[in-house]
Amino acid sequence: MELKKLTSILAALALAAGLTAALLSFTLDRSLHTRATLSQVFIFVALALFIALATLRGRARRAEPVGTARGAVGRNEAQRCTFSDVAANEQALESLRQLRDYLKDPGKYVRYGARMPRGVLLYGPPGTGKTLLARALAGEAGVPFFALSGSDFVEKFVGVGASRVRELFKKARKAGKCVIFIDEIDAMGKRRDDNSSDERDQTLNALLSEMSGFYTGDGVIVIAATNRIEMLDPALLRPGRFDRQIEVGLPEKRQRLSILKKHSENKPLDGDVDLEELAAQTVSFSGASLENLLNEAALAAAVRGTGSIGREDLRAAFYRTVAGVDRAITATARERRIIAVHEAGHALVSRLLAPENRLARVSILPAGHGAAGYNLCVPAERVMVEKRHLENQICVLLAGRAAEQLAFGDDALTAGASSDLARAAELATAMVTELGMDGEPAVSLKALGRGCGGVTGAAERCKALLGTQYEHVKALISTEADALKALADALMEAESLEGAAAEAILDAHLSNNRPKSA
Ligand code: ADP
Ligand code: ZN
Repeated sequence: MELKKLTSILAALALAAGLTAALLSFTLDRSLHTRATLSQVFIFVALALFIALATLRGRARRAEPVGTARGAVGRNEAQRCTFSDVAANEQALESLRQLRDYLKDPGKYVRYGARMPRGVLLYGPPGTGKTLLARALAGEAGVPFFALSGSDFVEKFVGVGASRVRELFKKARKAGKCVIFIDEIDAMGKRRDDNSSDERDQTLNALLSEMSGFYTGDGVIVIAATNRIEMLDPALLRPGRFDRQIEVGLPEKRQRLSILKKHSENKPLDGDVDLEELAAQTVSFSGASLENLLNEAALAAAVRGTGSIGREDLRAAFYRTVAGVDRAITATARERRIIAVHEAGHALVSRLLAPENRLARVSILPAGHGAAGYNLCVPAERVMVEKRHLENQICVLLAGRAAEQLAFGDDALTAGASSDLARAAELATAMVTELGMDGEPAVSLKALGRGCGGVTGAAERCKALLGTQYEHVKALISTEADALKALADALMEAESLEGAAAEAILDAHLSNNRPKSA
């Protein structure tokens, strides 16, 4: 397992060529503070309720005989929903518009010899509208919508999940053109490792072969959703499978405003209600929590019976939605500042040491499970990985923590860097024990250790390697403190920045003698 993990990291690095699309690398950062976690717990409680309800409904369906596809939603329900129901998410909509044209007239694409993506993967935190987008696609194209959850396919008995997959596709084919939606695809499509079961493998294989089995002219689109793209089996992301991947992130201020506007269209708001202000306050709310917030306020107003929804209703609903009795709001200003500095640190050091990697997005909004902030970076294509590339990568990983330490001091270190530190240590371990890149240049301690009873001193050498790189990173960041501050300020303001915009801010503030490497 250990070996596989390391090999897969190295393989991912070495075989970057041709895999760029699938190789989006995340620097995800854990939430920094119990307060932040607490508010997530409340959102989580709401989610847990939804899940419990969904499970109950699932139980009801479970009465069907083993081995049949369940949960198909007919044409009528899907038709109620269109692209105009989706606010924000412009990027995802752009992609889906093309798919709608295809579903309306697949023949046109066949005539031009174009291959449409068989599968589209929507990834991002829960409640950001992934299901809504899939339903809207079916609704727009006027085709049936089949919705299932990945966990519906995970069964105790080998072969049952697989036959369920085949059953689903059979049903879908019979329907002619359609949209198949698989929520939580990670439940069935987890990266295969030593722990994976025969059952899950068979289920995943069945899905892969069904997806290869239909033709461009069929007009079947499979949309899958996940909030943990990094957990997916790479086989799922290959061409001909889910080869189009669309990020559906948490909405930023401007997008929150348009979601709030959309969901208040049918609600009588008081004249003094300021949606702009509400949008500014609801940092890290998903579309679903915004919708929930407005609904709570509407419920309260209905109970009071004054005829419209007032500021006070919204204020109370805000606290109920975000933090229940605790009255804590989402990340405090100080916490947001820490996250901003941390993410700016990653982006700065990446710009300095690995400018060939393309920064796609920097954000201080959570990207998924307990993460606070992220850097999304597309690594440059490269056939061979050199020692300096690995060192640079370690530096970029350590940069979040280093920036925090320099800006806020030793006592303010946060737990936000834990996964960065773990990944840096994994890389260092590979360099020391497998690649002969530290100490004796041509020795694989790992291979030796298997024959010669363990490896001694490797941990010390990894620590030394990490220590050297950490000092290097701190020196870089101190020299470029202006650039760090400029980017952190911009992140505080905008919450998310496109990579190009972030790089422009950095470049405008870097000292002239900045190092460059390729
Ligand atoms: P996901 O599938 O990503 O978990 P859903 O699609 O189930 O999220 O979203 C739940 C609800 O939240 C939607 O039905 C809708 O009411 C609201 N919602 C989420 N995102 C948006 C959005 N971008 N625009 C409008 N409503 C949204
Ligand atoms: Zn980080």
